[in-house]
Amino acid sequence: MIHHSNTICDDCGERHTPGNSAECIEDLQKQIIRNKDEIAALKDENTALTVALTEQRRRMGAEYDNLDEKLKNVQSIAAREIQKYRIVMEKIKEEHDTYQRANWDYIMPLVEEALKAATDES
Ligand SMILES: [Zn+2]
Repeated sequence: MIHHSNTICDDCGERHTPGNSAECIEDLQKQIIRNKDEIAALKDENTALTVALTEQRRRMGAEYDNLDEKLKNVQSIAAREIQKYRIVMEKIKEEHDTYQRANWDYIMPLVEEALKAATDES
C-alpha cells in the first residue's frame, strides 16, 4: 500500500509499507519496466538522430564539393583574366616605348637645329 506517510524505502527508493518485501519487489519491477521503456525511447531517438546526422553530413559533403568546384571555376576564370591583363599591359608598354622613340626621333633634330642656330648667332 502506498501512503505518503510511509518513508522512502532504502532498497527501491519508493514509498511503501515498511519491511513489505512483496511491495518492494513490485516497485522495483515497475522501475525496471519504466527504465526499459526509457531505454527503448532513447534508442529510437538515437537512431533518428544518427539518420539525421548522416543525411546532414551527406548534404554538407555535397555542398562542400559544389562550393569547391565553384571556387576552382572562379580561380580558373581569374587566372585567365590575369593572363589577358598581362598581355594588354605588355602591348601598352610596347606602344608606349614605340611612341617615346618616335617622339625622341622627332624632337632630337629640332633640338639639334635650335642648338646650331644658337651657336651660329653667337
Ligand atoms: Zn522498497
